[in-house]
Amino acid sequence: MSECVFCKIVAGDFGTELLGETEHSIAFRDINPEMPVHLLVVPKNHYRDITDLATHSEAAMLDLVKLGSQLALEHTSDGSYKFLFNSGENAGQTVFHAHAHVLSQMPKSV
Ligand code: AMP
Ligand code: ZN
Repeated sequence: MSECVFCKIVAGDFGTELLGETEHSIAFRDINPEMPVHLLVVPKNHYRDITDLATHSEAAMLDLVKLGSQLALEHTSDGSYKFLFNSGENAGQTVFHAHAHVLSQMPKSV
């Protein structure tokens, strides 16, 4: 998907700082954070949305959930976080490459 912004991030085209990487997934900070902790976890392969991902690769789905939940614990002070998938335009999806938002009001102080 040459025009997909998250495929470009996976390819390293933007030099995005990765916060985590596994066999199937990468994670990075949302460019427009809505909370003090706002991370995105993205499958390396292109799937349109979470339904497409869950339907076609259980391994990639599980990998994404594991990476997101691990990073949530690393980046929050209290282990509380939202794990959010927007799926479809009317639900607020704007990037049509599956991704999870990890959101928290409680960043870990460094
Ligand atoms: P959604 O509305 O669920 O499709 O979320 C897409 C998210 O991707 C938004 O929160 C954007 O701020 C974020 N985003 C778009 N482009 C980039 C980028 N180049 N780097 C990091 N985050 C991005
Ligand atoms: Zn893509």
